[in-house]
Amino acid sequence: MSPERLAEIAARCDAATAGPWCTDAWEIYRGAEYVPGISEWIGETCRGTSTLEQDRADATFVAAARTDVPEMAAEVERLRARVAELEAAQAPAVGLEPAPLPHHPEHDAIKRTAQTRGRLTITPPVSPYWTTADYAHETEALRTLVWPVVRKALAEEFPGFSAAFTADDIDICVHCRSEFEFATDAEAADPSTRTDEHSVGGEPVCCKAAMDAFRAARRLPEADL
Ligand SMILES: [Zn+2]
Repeated sequence: MSPERLAEIAARCDAATAGPWCTDAWEIYRGAEYVPGISEWIGETCRGTSTLEQDRADATFVAAARTDVPEMAAEVERLRARVAELEAAQAPAVGLEPAPLPHHPEHDAIKRTAQTRGRLTITPPVSPYWTTADYAHETEALRTLVWPVVRKALAEEFPGFSAAFTADDIDICVHCRSEFEFATDAEAADPSTRTDEHSVGGEPVCCKAAMDAFRAARRLPEADL
């Protein structure tokens, strides 16, 4: 499936009435569950020329497609990003790379360097949101709110361009839920940066609870903070 085709499908999804959709039998409504007199009507599949069972199956398919299709599109993007990542990891190791092409000074006037496969990195605000939450919330907001807007803008303004959502892993302290940080050997040895004379490399510095847990495991005296 070409990136253009995927963008076309995503654009069709984005343009449709927001999901989820549901069905009571052969009528299709907006919402996760049909509420009589309240749910917004989307359409129906009752044709009178097929069995009611068939109409019911068609309605179920249409209603579910509203959420199934974006889910599959996201999965295609995720898998494509993963493939690109694996392909990059399999690039020839240093030393096995072909020798650089010889430089011909005559080329300088008749060629120029171009770039392809640009990457867009979106970073959520670090503060004040990234304080007590465990970061999963921000990543979810990026994935569900920011990314569809980026994808829609790309599809509308730059047909043919494609993009995939990826997020970096970070380690979070289970005690303070901020980013897990620890002292290096050099920091632990330096009286101006270490916590006390019992500090060792690897000692967490994000919070006392993490430091206590580490010191207990290493049978080191508790820090007096
Ligand atoms: Zn901590």
